[in-house]
Amino acid sequence: MIVDCHTHIGEGVYHSCSPDELLAAMDASEIEQAVVCPVDRCLAVENAEGNDYVLTQAAKHPGRFIPFATANPWYGAKAVAELQRAIAAGARGLKLNSKVQGFTLSDDVVYPLIEVAGEHNLPVFVHTATMVCAEPLQLAMLARRFPAVNFIMGHSGSTDFWNDMIPGITDVKNIYLDTSVNNPSSIGKYCTTMGPDRLCFGTDYPQNTYPIELEKMGDAIPDEQQRQIVLSQTILRLLGEGVV
Ligand SMILES: [Zn+2]
Repeated sequence: MIVDCHTHIGEGVYHSCSPDELLAAMDASEIEQAVVCPVDRCLAVENAEGNDYVLTQAAKHPGRFIPFATANPWYGAKAVAELQRAIAAGARGLKLNSKVQGFTLSDDVVYPLIEVAGEHNLPVFVHTATMVCAEPLQLAMLARRFPAVNFIMGHSGSTDFWNDMIPGITDVKNIYLDTSVNNPSSIGKYCTTMGPDRLCFGTDYPQNTYPIELEKMGDAIPDEQQRQIVLSQTILRLLGEGVV
């Protein structure tokens, strides 16, 4: 079983992907389920539009899409209300991208949203890899402040933070790593350093494609049992779905 922890659907400015396109790509590579997040402009500004879109598409395709909602923390109380609305409507996680949302991961402006995710026991998917606003060590500070909340580190800080990412987050056990964008030797290193229980297979579709991302996993983690944990079990556990 394979579950993709990181995709985007909708009409974006930089990237667009229809639900049918994603489903066809998933079917061709035997991907059972995918976390679906709103696209760029919906992450930045049109949060409710993006949230309604992923929620509607998830309801239309039961068992295939796992909807993650977003809220731009700069909207303050309105962002909190929007996230609560989306969670009540079925969102399974919170997606943040400080690069497009215009904040810094170390900034307390985001705390109210993390608190809401924590109250509902939902994972928080956080883009990283952008200097100044989305650095792994900033995420480590945030995760230390909210030890009961599980964070998935988008792209694992790749590629600019290859040297300080592992020492910076290894002992922050509520940070999990998204494999998208990383090269096989990095993914293999994360697996041996932190264990497969800290890794989630992700593609950031449509930016990357399944054949390539899956081939990387085979190279990176030759042990089949470990690879299976990364390909589905870690993300399912974070979503509260009982797996070994
Ligand atoms: Zn993303």
